[in-house]
Amino acid sequence: MSAPLSRVGVLGGTFDPIHHGHLAAASEVCAALGLDQVLLAPTNRQPFKEGFDSAPAEDRLEMCRLAVLGDDRLAVTPVDIERGGITYTVDTLTDLRDQLPGAQLYFITGADALERLSEWREAERLGELARFVGVTRAGHPLPQLDTAHTLVEVPAMAVSSTDVRRRVRAGAPIRYLVPRAVADYIATHDLYAGGWDD
Ligand code: ATP
Ligand code: MG
Repeated sequence: MSAPLSRVGVLGGTFDPIHHGHLAAASEVCAALGLDQVLLAPTNRQPFKEGFDSAPAEDRLEMCRLAVLGDDRLAVTPVDIERGGITYTVDTLTDLRDQLPGAQLYFITGADALERLSEWREAERLGELARFVGVTRAGHPLPQLDTAHTLVEVPAMAVSSTDVRRRVRAGAPIRYLVPRAVADYIATHDLYAGGWDD
């Protein structure tokens, strides 16, 4: 039996779809902080994206699984999708702490998400559940941080899921922005082609 993980990163996101910006951030934080693993946690429904129709959770989860194949430092947790409903980070972290007793959790957020941290449900409790790690994101200035968040600079990848969805709709290439298996999955399952507005 392998030893229990003691330092675990968690990158929450809609991952609609997962792209190389997510993977570069997860990989960089893993190395910079000497983590055992980084878990990608796809949301079920995102509170800040109500009214926005994301691809089905099973598809987003499967694309995450395909994206991390072959890299043991990265894994995917279905904890938020299995809980269902709107995903709140406070629940993600509470459930992961139950599943990984004794582990120190590091919750990773990009500069854009970090800006809204104080609006998150039970924001004041989040710091008790995990350490928060901000990562730089191309095009988003780092907000002024009042608390002791760790910051990790990641190689700038000016890619977003919104951009990937737009490209699919426009017939523009997404190869090299997302892992090849993800691009294949999008094509095979005909995701993002049927126009909705972002
Ligand atoms: P969307 O355009 O649909 O909002 P996104 O590309 O922002 O998609 P999310 O699933 O919203 O992806 O992001 C999940 C997490 O990953 C967030 O904390 C976000 O800040 C971070 N992130 C996303 N893209 C990058 C990137 N290129 N570099 C660094 N961090 C990123
Ligand atoms: Mg986003």
